[in-house]
Amino acid sequence: MRFVLTGGAGYIGSHVYRLLKERGHEVVVYDNLSHGHREAVEPSDLRVGDLHDTEKFREVLLSFRPDVVMHFAAFIEVGISTERPLEFFENNTVGTIRLVQAMMHTGVHHFIFSSTAAVYGHPERVPISEDARLTPVNPYGSSKVMVEEFLRSLSEWSSFRYVAIRYFNAAGAAEDGSIGEAHDPETHLIPLILKAAKGERPHITIFGTDFPTPDGTAIRDYIHVTDLAEAHLLAAEYLMDGGESQALNCGYSRGYSVREVIDTAKKVTGREFPVIEGDRRAGDPPALVADSSRMRTILGWKPTRDDLAYIIKTAWNWELNRRY
Ligand code: UDP
Repeated sequence: MRFVLTGGAGYIGSHVYRLLKERGHEVVVYDNLSHGHREAVEPSDLRVGDLHDTEKFREVLLSFRPDVVMHFAAFIEVGISTERPLEFFENNTVGTIRLVQAMMHTGVHHFIFSSTAAVYGHPERVPISEDARLTPVNPYGSSKVMVEEFLRSLSEWSSFRYVAIRYFNAAGAAEDGSIGEAHDPETHLIPLILKAAKGERPHITIFGTDFPTPDGTAIRDYIHVTDLAEAHLLAAEYLMDGGESQALNCGYSRGYSVREVIDTAKKVTGREFPVIEGDRRAGDPPALVADSSRMRTILGWKPTRDDLAYIIKTAWNWELNRRY
């Protein structure tokens, strides 16, 4: 198959890029490199361009003629979204609508959208099924819900078809250590813990120890980025086989608390580092765990890396030998 990946030089996009190439597919990455890394993509596959440069994006679609567009390019920092909401609606919502417009105008009708567990806000029930109410509690989550609603309606009234993958907590790195997570600023738990283990940061702060969970810290469904990448390829195959448009959760359906992640990281790295108990971060729900039965049944998704120590080990290997 032929794929265009927007944001394919970023964390999740680059792991999908790698997997698609390994499986023999043809891939063009469209990325403005504002957050992505040139080193993550072979030069001949990279087109440097902005989401808002619709002309350029149309040219890429017309010259490459992809079967499927996968859209990773987005702002992801929840905290920043509460400070600068307009930028999130402009980039994540308006940017996606423009991109889909360019697809429709050039006859490309299959779309994989990077959605998020943040669409659920504070879920009433855990594990969370796709039918749970979408009540986002920050502009980041709202910007994604608005796109999902746009996609749902568009696919109902046109030949456009999509799968929105609602990511839980992507973590880890490629097994060979060649690509991995490299956000700036970094806000995610596992890379921050590993930077403390490495001595690059003085400590790790636990955001909240008074959640209604067994050890008082927040629970998340950490999923290895390569298993998440596999879900994208399966979703593309599903659409190409005529599968119906829908949103699917992607997680392992089990959660770990912040304390459990820290303890596992200490074991995996063999390093000690200071742990500080801090206040909750605004908007953090106590527990986000996916009910991923639909993804398993509908796409035949069979994750093979559901092991927190393994996830942290791959992230640690990357952290120790980072190329960018
Ligand atoms: N977290 C923490 N300390 C940190 C960073 C994150 O305790 O320095 C917590 C955060 O409050 C959440 C969990 O770790 O409960 C995962 O956070 P992350 O930012 O990695 O992902 P999120 O679930 O917010 O998408």
